[in-house]
Amino acid sequence: LFRSQFQDRSNSMGVNLANDAQLATLAAQIQAATGPWTAGPLVPGATSAGATVEVTSPADRRVRVGQWQAADSATVEQALRNATDAHADWNAVPAASRAAILEHAADLLESRTPDYIAMCTREAGKTIPDGVAEVREAVDFLRYYAAEARRLFVVEALPGPTGESNSLQLSGRGVFVCISPWNFPLAIFAGQIAAALAAGNTVIAKAAEQTTLVGHAAVKLLHEAGVPAHVLQYVPGDGASVGAALTADPRVAGVVFTGSNATALAINRALAARDGAIGTLIAETGGQNALIADSSALPEQLVKDALGSAFTSAGQRCSAARVLFVQDDIADKVIGMLAGAMQELTVGDPALLSTDVGPVIDADALRMLDAHAERMASEARLIATTPVGPEVAHGTFFAPRAWELQSLTQLQRENFGPALHVIRWKADQLDAVIDAINNTGYGLTLGIHSRIDETVEKISARARVGNVYVNRNQIGAVVGVQPFGGQRLSGTGPKAGGSHYLPRFTTEKTVTINT
Ligand code: NAP
Repeated sequence: LFRSQFQDRSNSMGVNLANDAQLATLAAQIQAATGPWTAGPLVPGATSAGATVEVTSPADRRVRVGQWQAADSATVEQALRNATDAHADWNAVPAASRAAILEHAADLLESRTPDYIAMCTREAGKTIPDGVAEVREAVDFLRYYAAEARRLFVVEALPGPTGESNSLQLSGRGVFVCISPWNFPLAIFAGQIAAALAAGNTVIAKAAEQTTLVGHAAVKLLHEAGVPAHVLQYVPGDGASVGAALTADPRVAGVVFTGSNATALAINRALAARDGAIGTLIAETGGQNALIADSSALPEQLVKDALGSAFTSAGQRCSAARVLFVQDDIADKVIGMLAGAMQELTVGDPALLSTDVGPVIDADALRMLDAHAERMASEARLIATTPVGPEVAHGTFFAPRAWELQSLTQLQRENFGPALHVIRWKADQLDAVIDAINNTGYGLTLGIHSRIDETVEKISARARVGNVYVNRNQIGAVVGVQPFGGQRLSGTGPKAGGSHYLPRFTTEKTVTINT
C-alpha cells in the first residue's frame, strides 16, 4: 500500500490512494483497532512517575482514547544517568548492526500499519490518507538513516607522507534529546530517533503531549526490534518541565527539535546557558509559506494544488500553503474556482474514507484559529468557508476558510490550520512579491505555478526558502527525494531525509599513525 500511494487514484484533494479493495480492508482494520491505549515513561530503574493524563479524541471529545503517565523529575534524572552510561557501548556497536536494528523496526512497523494509523487517527485526528503517509514516512526514515549509517560509518583513509597513515572516522556525540511535535506524531518522532541512534547516540525522546500514546508505541516497537532499553528511553511530559529539564542538562550532547520557532529559541537559550561542552541544536520550525501563481498558470491545476497544500491534514503541516499570490489577470477566475472547490470538501470524522479534512489538534489550536477568523472578519474579504454538518459538534473542528488580503504584512504569524489567504499582484510587482515573502523572515516551502521558465528560475533563485515546488502541491516531501527543512526563522538545517542530516549527529576523529 505504501508504494501504491503514488499511483493513479486521488481523493478530492489530490491525496493518492490505493485501490478500493485495499482501502476497504485497511479501513476495516483501522476500525477494529480502537484501543484504549496506555503510555508512560520507558526508563529502566525509574521507581516513580508523575501525573496521569486522560486522552480523548480531537474528533469527538466524548470518546476516550487512553491515558498516560508523565515522567517526574526523578525519572528524568534516571533517564539522563542511563543514557550517559549506555553511550560508550552503543557507540561501539558497528554501524551496520545499528542499521540492521532500524531496518527490522521498519519491517515491524510496515507489518502493523493499520494499528499505527488507528492510533494516529484516534489520538491526533489524522485522516486515513494522512495516516498512511505518516506510517510510510516513518518507515522511509528508518530505512534511509540505516542506509546512511552504512554509507558514512567507514574509516576513511587520508593521504599523508611516507611512513604515516591518516584516517578519519565518525562516532556518536553522546546523549541526544529528541523533541517532536504532534502534527507528525510517528514520522517526525521516529525520524529524529532513527537518525540519532544510527549515528551512535543514546536517545531520550519526548513526544508532544497531545500525541504521547503514539510516541510510546513507537518506542516499544524500536525496543522490540532490538534497540536496548537504556539506549532509547521515553519520557512523556510537558515541554515546560520535562523538555526544559532535559535541554538544560550538561550531560546532553545535542537536541534535535521540530516544533515552533518560539520553542526552538527557548531550547537554544537553554543549551547556551549550560556550563561545559557546547550543545548541538538541530531545529526545524514553522513557516509563512507562499504559493506564487502568474497568469500562465493552469487554473484547474493551480486550484487543486492550492487546495491540497492549504487544507490537507487540516492545514496542520509546517509546509502548508498559507498565502496564494495570484496575478490579477487570472485572479477572479481562480478565486471563483477556489470558492467552488471549497464547497466540495468533506469535513468530519477522520476515520471515514470520505473525509478530506479532520479536526484540529485541540481546543487551544481552535481558539487561535477562531481568533484569527475574527480578526480577518474586519481586515479581509471572506472568499469561502467549507460547510460543516452537526457531526463535528463534539470535536475541535475549524471549517476551512479563505480570505482575500491586501498585503502579506496583515499576517503577523503562522496560522496553523486550514486557513488560506489570497493576495493579487500585477505584472510589474513580481520583485515586490518575492521581497514580501522573504521579509517575513521565514523560509520553509514555496510553491510556484508558472509555465514561463524565466519566471520560475527568477523566483527559485531569489526566494530564501528551503523547499521550492513548481507546478505541483507543496506538501508531502518524500524522504531521500525531497530532503526537507527551512532556513532563517524556519530552522537551522540540515534537511531531514537528506544526505547532510546524519553527519550533524556525529563527531569526527582523525587518527595519525607513524608507521
Ligand atoms: P511546540 O509547541 O513548539 O512543541 C514542540 C515540542 O516542544 C513539544 O514536544 C513540546 O512539548 C516541546 N516543548 C515545548 N516547550 C519546550 C521547552 N521549553 N523545552 C523543551 N521542549 C519544549 O510546537 P507544536 O505546536 O507541537 O508544533 C507545531 C509547530 O511545529 C508549527 O510551528 C509547525 O510549523 C512546526 N513544524 C515544523 C516542521 C518542520 O519540519 N519544519 C514539521 C512539523 C511541525 P509539549 O507538548 O509539552 O508542549
